[in-house]
Amino acid sequence: MSVVKKNIISLKLPMFDRLFLCWSTETLMDSTTATAELGWTVYPWEEVSGYDENMNTIRTYQVCNVFDSNQNNWVRTKYIRRRGAQRIHVEMKFSVRDCSSIPNVPGSCKETFNLYYYESDSDTANRNSPPWMENPWIKVDTIAADESFSQVDLGGRVMKINTEVRSFGPVSKNGFYLAFQDYGGCMSLIAVRVFYRKCPRIITNGALFQETLSGAESTSLVAARGVCIPNAEEVDVPIKLYCNGDGEWMVPIGRCMCKAGNEAVENGTVCRACPSGFFKSTQGDQLCLQCPINSRTTSEGAINCVCRNGYYRTDSDPLQMPCTTVPSAPQAVISSVNETSVMLEWMSPRDSGGREDVVYNIICKSCGGGRGGCTRCGDNVQFVPRQLGLTESRVYISDLLAHTQYTFEVQAVNGVSDQSPYSPQYASVNITTNQAAPSTVSIMHQVSRSVDSITLSWSQPDQPNGVILDYELQYYEKDLSEHNASTIRSQTNTVVIRGLKPGSIYVFQVRARTVAGFGRYSGKLYFQTMTEEEYNTSIQEKLPLIIGSAAAGLVFLIALVVIIIVCNRRRGFDRHDSEYTDKLQHYTSGHMTPGMKIYIDPFTYEDPNEAVREFAKEIDISCVKIEQVIGAGEFGEVCSGNLKLPGKREMFVAIKTLKSGYTEKQRRDFLSEASIMGQFDHPNVIHLEGVVTKSSPVMIITEFMENGSLDTFLRQNDGQFTVIQLVGMLRGIASGMKYLADMNYVHRDLAARNILVNSNLVCKVSDFGLSRFLEDDTSDPTYTSALGGKIPIRWTAPEAIQYRKFTSASDVWSYGIVMWEVMSYGERPYWDMTNQDVINAIEQDYRLPPPMDCPSALHQLMLDCWQKDRNNRPKFSQIVNNLDKMIRNPNTLKAMTPLSSGVHLPLLDRSIPDFSTFSSVDEWLDAIKMGQYKDNFANSDFSTFDVVSQMTMEDILRVGVTLAGHQKKILNSIQMMRAQMNQIQSVEV
Ligand code: AMP
Repeated sequence: MSVVKKNIISLKLPMFDRLFLCWSTETLMDSTTATAELGWTVYPWEEVSGYDENMNTIRTYQVCNVFDSNQNNWVRTKYIRRRGAQRIHVEMKFSVRDCSSIPNVPGSCKETFNLYYYESDSDTANRNSPPWMENPWIKVDTIAADESFSQVDLGGRVMKINTEVRSFGPVSKNGFYLAFQDYGGCMSLIAVRVFYRKCPRIITNGALFQETLSGAESTSLVAARGVCIPNAEEVDVPIKLYCNGDGEWMVPIGRCMCKAGNEAVENGTVCRACPSGFFKSTQGDQLCLQCPINSRTTSEGAINCVCRNGYYRTDSDPLQMPCTTVPSAPQAVISSVNETSVMLEWMSPRDSGGREDVVYNIICKSCGGGRGGCTRCGDNVQFVPRQLGLTESRVYISDLLAHTQYTFEVQAVNGVSDQSPYSPQYASVNITTNQAAPSTVSIMHQVSRSVDSITLSWSQPDQPNGVILDYELQYYEKDLSEHNASTIRSQTNTVVIRGLKPGSIYVFQVRARTVAGFGRYSGKLYFQTMTEEEYNTSIQEKLPLIIGSAAAGLVFLIALVVIIIVCNRRRGFDRHDSEYTDKLQHYTSGHMTPGMKIYIDPFTYEDPNEAVREFAKEIDISCVKIEQVIGAGEFGEVCSGNLKLPGKREMFVAIKTLKSGYTEKQRRDFLSEASIMGQFDHPNVIHLEGVVTKSSPVMIITEFMENGSLDTFLRQNDGQFTVIQLVGMLRGIASGMKYLADMNYVHRDLAARNILVNSNLVCKVSDFGLSRFLEDDTSDPTYTSALGGKIPIRWTAPEAIQYRKFTSASDVWSYGIVMWEVMSYGERPYWDMTNQDVINAIEQDYRLPPPMDCPSALHQLMLDCWQKDRNNRPKFSQIVNNLDKMIRNPNTLKAMTPLSSGVHLPLLDRSIPDFSTFSSVDEWLDAIKMGQYKDNFANSDFSTFDVVSQMTMEDILRVGVTLAGHQKKILNSIQMMRAQMNQIQSVEV
């Protein structure tokens, strides 16, 4: 029977319902590939040649013994080697004749056949062995045709080809045979293919899995370990796949991913290094990214791109963000000054550097009116909302000093500014503050009271913002309205309010006035006058005290008590004051301002300790905390520290100590300063807090003056202040001296070294010690022995030097010298002249010349102070008024003094020495106190007097002298050098 194959084969494909489409088979035997006879053992099938659908010759087996009963026909394949497979698959193509289509066919006709296998380690089968029967053969299945052919047409039979696949296992011997049993059908076995399944070598999930044979059962899963492909790393472990019975990979576990700097290509089977100009920062599936703007890679496989020069990124900047740079300067800064505050506004920088985190910092510098450089502002300047890290382009700056020039730099910074080696770019603006009204007086207290008067005192405003001209006190009876208020003006911070009703409560408010006007009134305070009963009780208690003091035998005090009684009788209302005022407030008629206290010399007390008790408050040592030594006083160290009195705020104080081993006289002299200071209460006189006498060391505690003594302070800040600032300082000193003069106190040692300066540039008169005038102290050459004590010659008026006529007028002479010291920034009066030369020069009407840049109005005031006849000298009150006028009209300070004006003969300005006395330019620079520029001169070849004398302002600038004050000093000295050269030349001629 020939079998004609038609193109109607429909192979059933496996279902691809697994995770992976990758499956493969390995063929162990294929009947269709046989070119000659297959030579299978038949019993009694028949081997026939035929054609497949492609008309290739194939060998087939057929059998058709339907009319004979009891059929048992076998055909057995040749020995098939197992080759490691555990499960064998058999694909059979066959056709079966439909029994009903065979005429007269007996009922035994079959349309099925059986498939068997038999395992054997070697090819030992022969015709009879194994026998043709189940067991030893193992039956795999009975195979039925899906379709059987039944029709015959004229051209031959139409065959329907069935394909069935069956599998069996486990197999374990080296090989096996297959057998097909027909038991009464009519069929043709067209092709048999024997194969096993395996999972192929595969790269998946970034890992390589080697080829793996499927398991013995169709349900078995064979686990396989994967290995990461090059440049990939495990993400989850273990990395596994399972090969199922159909040769399909399934159940993936774990995975590998391309490392940073590598990306997956070729369907995820290769991790390739990022090409240059690309980067990948992390392990993962993502692709390499192009380097962001302003960055580049240095090699392939980059995990990031480095920023180009001048560009940066912050730690938090994403790597795919472009590299950024520092912002350019803010633009168009505008300022609006309001008294001592300023509002700055600006526009954002033209270039933000590519970032959105630009903020602004404000650098504040105060500048010395063109005479010196600038210094950073102190902590007291306020910035709203803040000074650094401003997000908005505006800031409000307050608490600046009045009449001061400031430079503000508005810096733009962003997140990368701190990485740049350069300082931030900024725009700057210069402003000059105006005069500002003083701040509010915060502390006011009652000093004393009587039935019809109250004495009040208050502290200077924290920010005077200039020189305080006077205070205005407003008061009214508590039960009346504010409209009935009366006002009193006072030049000091103490005032006696008279004419009040007994036992009545009054409301008080005070405000300070500067040339800028009044500050705001302080908060309301209530004080009550004494009732008649209170007064009667107090006077009875005090009577013995007054008599006791008088009985102490001091003529002076007796006289004063007499004055008190006389005055009290006359005035009638002052006698009721409290104990404190009874001892202090001695009213005099005559030239003294009514209501002014007069000073009592502690040495007029028989027991000076009594004066200490009287005028200085005893402080318990536990309230005092010494911090550090800040100077050396006459009797011991001067320290800074803190004072915390019960119920009061802690304050910073200066503490003068008396060194151990002192004599009783030294103790008395030391404490005499406190007895003097304790009598004063004025904003321009150093304030005594108290004394410590009951423990050792003995101490005098005063308010702390941050800038120390004026002479040193000026020398350290040469050229740094505006003329108005200097005049403000002088005004303060004059005001303090006026107060002392009004109290009948003669200082005798007024000099810049004895003025202390606080952080607000307020100057206060200090040094009330008497000991330095005493003959037995030889330590300080400033004080020259003279008949009856030692005298600071250069500061002292001629009548005081000659016949010890010390008066407030001689203090005015000294004040003139202080003016000269201030305007020359701490120059020594009369330079290096000897004391005797000074005395002679003054006697011959020579006077100090104006210091450099000194307004003529000020020099004129100095000359007035140095009038030979002391009666012609101005009073301190006139000096204060004079200076106030200058402050109010700064134009009057513009004119500079031409040399040799007025009736006084000017001394040659000895601060500019004769160049011919020096052998080199270096020596000359040292002599004019400009030694710091020696190198600058030498490096620019200005090393002989000839070339130096030709220097112009431009030359001075070029050698690097940038401070205006120093430029002027050098230029003046060069001019002097030229004049001296001309003189020499004319002498030589
Ligand atoms: P005196 O013994 O008063 O001349 O003080 C010696 C030095 O101590 C002075 O030159 C100042 O430098 C310093 N000194 C004295 N009193 C004070 C003070 N109240 N505040 C700050 N420094 C002071």
